[in-house]
Amino acid sequence: MSQAWKKNIRKVVPYVPGEQPKRKVIKLNTNENPYPPSEKVTLSLEQFNSDCLKLYPDPDCLSLRQVLAEYYGFSTENIFVGVGSDDVLSVAFMTFFNSDKPILFPDITYSFYSVWADLYRIPYRKIPVDNDFRIKKEDYYCDNGGIVFANPNAPTAICESVDFVEDIVKKNPGAVVIVDEAYIDFGGTSALGLVNRYDNLLVVQTFSKSRSMAGMRIGYAIGNAELIKAMNDVKFSINSYTLNQSSLYAGGEAVKDDEYFRSTVKKIVDTRERVRKSLEKLGFCCTESCTNFLFATHATKPAGEIFEALKEKDIFVRYFNLPRIDNYLRITIGTDGEMDMLIEALKTIV
Ligand code: PMP
Repeated sequence: MSQAWKKNIRKVVPYVPGEQPKRKVIKLNTNENPYPPSEKVTLSLEQFNSDCLKLYPDPDCLSLRQVLAEYYGFSTENIFVGVGSDDVLSVAFMTFFNSDKPILFPDITYSFYSVWADLYRIPYRKIPVDNDFRIKKEDYYCDNGGIVFANPNAPTAICESVDFVEDIVKKNPGAVVIVDEAYIDFGGTSALGLVNRYDNLLVVQTFSKSRSMAGMRIGYAIGNAELIKAMNDVKFSINSYTLNQSSLYAGGEAVKDDEYFRSTVKKIVDTRERVRKSLEKLGFCCTESCTNFLFATHATKPAGEIFEALKEKDIFVRYFNLPRIDNYLRITIGTDGEMDMLIEALKTIV
């Protein structure tokens, strides 16, 4: 039988997310927050009236956009929300990267960027970071079809300054620059302050890390109203109803509990710095981290072996068998207790 239809199938190499093991392990492999969301979120879900589920959710996601607009000092017209920042970034790629010129992103960065570019047939060029894994801004001062980079970058954990981001945005008035700030709350300074001055800048953030809500899937982009309208036109051409009723409801409550948000972030940052010192005593070297993870390499023991040995002990970290970073581990910051168990395990392994 002819299977000629096969030639019309879109062939993609998908992004591979970190493992989500079914049994209980010490899970330090996907940069989730080890602490639960705010009690306001829990309470709002307890009080959630499921009767509203018979109706479609608000396609404009207005209640959540209003809370975010107020929190960050923007208008709702500046805010786009989606099902996690992966959804937001995917819509942004489709909306803004339609040039024949290649888009630019670092060679070491969030590996989803090249997957979306391939999926949407966007030409791209990976720009090598330097030997210390730092993005070189001058490399982005050239003709291009758009720019995307994570700041802090992942998995390197390194954060660049707002001035650095501004230089790239300023030098590229003819292209949209997307700054993926998934980890910005753990020590970086956001580029949100530039949004009112540069109409080609889109800042993307998420509830998955600092707000402990990876399971709810909420992300957002902030940019000038024209960029946001263009994203909405694309979104409404794919799926009008993206965020479900409970996400809209609980997401807003999470933002309102700023005190809890700040205390959780502080706990993670304190743990991170304590763990860094312990790792260094064991012969590891870590990049400077502004995130909820450490990017670590050991002086003598190969990262792949440490990864396997930890897994044997039911401690999951992330290992990327990729050029330039195949001797590094990305270790999510868990609770103090979890990190103590990691350090104890590493003492026997290295
Ligand atoms: N950007 C970066 C740099 C990330 O590491 C992640 C998490 N995998 C995301 C975006 C997407 O996160 P989410 O879809 O959970 O918001």
